[in-house]
Amino acid sequence: MRRRADDKANAMTEGSDSDVVWTNLHAATMSDGAQSYGEIRDAAIVVQSGRIAWIGPRRELPPAFRSLDTRDGKGGWMTPGLVDCHTHAVHAGSRSDEFEARLSGVTYEEIARRGGGILSTVRATRAATEPDLAAQSRARVERLMSGGVTTVEIKSGYGLSTESETKMLRVARRLGDELPVRVKTSFLGAHAVPPEFSGRADDYVALCIEEMLPAIVREGLADAVDAFCETIAFSPRQVEALFEAARAAGLAVKLHAEQLSDQGGAALVARYGGLSADHIEYLDEAGVAAMATAGTVGVLLPGAFYFLRETKVPPIAELRRHGVPMAVATDSNPGTSPMLSMTQAMNMACVLFRLTSQEALAGATINAARALGIAHETGSLEVGKAADMVLWDIARPADLSYAITPQQPTVRIVAGRVA
Ligand SMILES: [Zn+2]
Repeated sequence: MRRRADDKANAMTEGSDSDVVWTNLHAATMSDGAQSYGEIRDAAIVVQSGRIAWIGPRRELPPAFRSLDTRDGKGGWMTPGLVDCHTHAVHAGSRSDEFEARLSGVTYEEIARRGGGILSTVRATRAATEPDLAAQSRARVERLMSGGVTTVEIKSGYGLSTESETKMLRVARRLGDELPVRVKTSFLGAHAVPPEFSGRADDYVALCIEEMLPAIVREGLADAVDAFCETIAFSPRQVEALFEAARAAGLAVKLHAEQLSDQGGAALVARYGGLSADHIEYLDEAGVAAMATAGTVGVLLPGAFYFLRETKVPPIAELRRHGVPMAVATDSNPGTSPMLSMTQAMNMACVLFRLTSQEALAGATINAARALGIAHETGSLEVGKAADMVLWDIARPADLSYAITPQQPTVRIVAGRVA
């Protein structure tokens, strides 16, 4: 599966526009991680064969590149293309009816009794034809793209059967093939126990391991395996069984961990060398230390925190102290984070979690790329990486996380091509 993703990356760079040099702009390279913006004032960025061939102050542009066609940045700021490293963008339907009911006083238990909650999205997603599911999901991904996203991770997890989980992942792959955006996919069969397995979670996990995962691997549909480790979802023991199967299949792992309680999920995913532990509001210091040792990224999802009106903030100070890279993502999903803007997620991460503006931008670029295992390819403006870049009409990089209003870049470039 990883080979497949690399093939796609190569295909994207091969058919690029002619070689150009972008000038009349400033660059926030994000090459230092969250330490600084990696600012270059009055920069030049040379794009050749879809990759960054040179970047630096314009006055230092080597003579060899001076005859290239130029592209005018109009005094704006070029940043790495934004990477949304945690979404559930492929699903059918919406849950605004539940939102409305809850605001008029209907309890969560009553909504669940009426068949609402995650299982209503499961019903809608199972019922949707593949083309219909693709059309609904495409609109969401395009909305993310219009806000500067050049890479998006998409999870399954609303099918909960072999047929519907593979349908979701095929749709995600297809969106990556049809749209100018990189798509990474995660198999999230262990998102919820489907109604037909009610009270038999172990049997359902066995189905994930013995039937779903092999089918997904056969079709090359997933880049990683994810799960929801929580009292209302799956236990650490069940997650571990799934991670063993993922390891045997050669797939990376990540985890929805410590969102509502401390289950030791972050330490578990770190033990498997996982790419990321996501949510992590209830993460303790031992979990932070385990993540630091393993190089596991902490993915912050302030949209769900906001929407659920949570009050327990992730342990940002400990994550900083241990040097755990922090990413920021939309968690775009119909139940707890109906959000389709990365700059809005950045703003929420700053306001609700007190990230610095540099941390928010690093979280939406280089650290998000790390959370997907593709930091060698995208996520910062550095020589040799794909020219995934977005140009913003802003005065300073902090403007991206300052505004509550979703931001839109003036130019979006994927693998060197204006898209
Ligand atoms: Zn999620």
